[in-house]
Amino acid sequence: MAAQTIPVDDFDLVIIGGTGDLAKRKILPGLFRRLCAGQMPETARIICAARSDFTQDEFKSFVREALEKFVKSKKKNKKQIEFFLERLSYIKLDALGDEGWEPLAKTLRKGVIHAFYFSVGPSLFAPLAERLLKHKITNDNSRIVVEKPFGRDLASAQALNAELARSFNEDQIFRIDHYLGKETVQNLMALRFANALFEPLWNSQHIDHVQITVAESIGVEGRGAYYDKSGAMRDMIQNHLMQLFCLTAMEPPATFDATSVRDEKLKVIKALDPILEVDIVRGQYRADGDSPSYQDESGNPDSTTESYIALKANLSNWRWVGTPFYLRTGKKLRNRASEIAVVFKDPPHSIFADSQDLKGNVLTIRLQPDEGINLSMTIKEPGPGGMRLTEVPLDMTFAEVLGDDELSIPDAYERLIMDVIRGDQTLFMRGDEVEAAWGWVDPIIKNWEEKQAKPAPYDAGGNGPDDSLMLMHKDGRRWREV
Ligand code: NAP
Repeated sequence: MAAQTIPVDDFDLVIIGGTGDLAKRKILPGLFRRLCAGQMPETARIICAARSDFTQDEFKSFVREALEKFVKSKKKNKKQIEFFLERLSYIKLDALGDEGWEPLAKTLRKGVIHAFYFSVGPSLFAPLAERLLKHKITNDNSRIVVEKPFGRDLASAQALNAELARSFNEDQIFRIDHYLGKETVQNLMALRFANALFEPLWNSQHIDHVQITVAESIGVEGRGAYYDKSGAMRDMIQNHLMQLFCLTAMEPPATFDATSVRDEKLKVIKALDPILEVDIVRGQYRADGDSPSYQDESGNPDSTTESYIALKANLSNWRWVGTPFYLRTGKKLRNRASEIAVVFKDPPHSIFADSQDLKGNVLTIRLQPDEGINLSMTIKEPGPGGMRLTEVPLDMTFAEVLGDDELSIPDAYERLIMDVIRGDQTLFMRGDEVEAAWGWVDPIIKNWEEKQAKPAPYDAGGNGPDDSLMLMHKDGRRWREV
């Protein structure tokens, strides 16, 4: 089944930080794939800007290399790559100075959509917004895309929101969280709101608990210095896991539009109980044979930054009171895997005298690897010999349905960039949502800082600290193997 694409309107997209890692690995390959898929108009243009010196030819060679390396599709060919490169130009520009802004203003075409992707460090977000305004480069129809991290606490997020608001209206600001662009995450909404089957069961009467896991098998590696100032709570829980949590727990919005969906997500964050100290576990990976410790990799031998978090969150609202949401994320764990597992309650009574325990169904929304949805069901084991029961998966792995060439399933970034051009903010975070999420995590972080709390050590390649197992065991539950 080929994915359908609806072309977007003509645009000039400016990637500020167009020489950086994100542009090279995700944004430019993503745009190339959208051009191949027929979604990016052939007249659209991409203008990359940064401080480095590049001639146009040198820059095109740089992007050609990036496409060769990061576009895996067997369908790509040289002709398509050269056609893409013709849409591309480079401008030397300084976010903190005056160089490059006039040439940029002259380059932009009239009558097409202008989008500015801030693919730079967070300290440059506000200066960029200010300079775009100062040099009269933007109009009411321009959009800006702001990368993570959006602040490092409530106060800094509020300050950044206020700074951006001086130059742009909220409907022009696209705060990106690429988890929201994943096929499965959007499918979670389709599953919930386009099928009558699940919604009547989607509450604490029928759901025992929910587990949200984002596990990585690698450590902080080259990002150690940056990560050490952040940690798993700021880097993952406050944004990615919180977004997955909101989409799982929210009420059905009246319509699938940016305001309705984001209103419902905000209500979830506001219904969160303050977290108890006993309901949160912090960990940090230790050295293991040749594998360096977090402290070695971060270059900070006294670091108390966490590379692992597991926590239990409770919502005080009619739908969810009594159903905990367990969130965990960490580095250097056994596998790289992300999923939302909705664990239904066990059947109330077994009529099958010989059979053992009846287990609750588990609906798993898998983000990576093998994006897809799986529902565990109990059936009779085939064959004679009485009523023996067994669990089987109802499996919908998208690669099997849509084909596994990457041109068939758009990557999160490319999908979200097309949404920016369309002006659709449904899958982007609103300012008040980001602030509410910081408002929930801030007291937790503050408490650790005040106590100078040390994270529990855990082994590389395992499942995190032992205390995280206890977090579940004390409630009579267990983490799923991911
Ligand atoms: P990076 O590799 O360090 O690239 C930063 C870019 O900004 C470079 O193109 C750099 O080019 C440019 N730059 C720096 N100072 C500038 C200035 N004063 N004026 C104009 N351009 C300037 O960083 P990155 O990994 O691409 O990350 C970019 C943003 O995306 C960050 O906010 C990061 O947190 C976020 N992000 C990245 C990833 C990822 O996978 N890389 C994932 C999620 C979020 P010059 O040095 O030539 O100026």
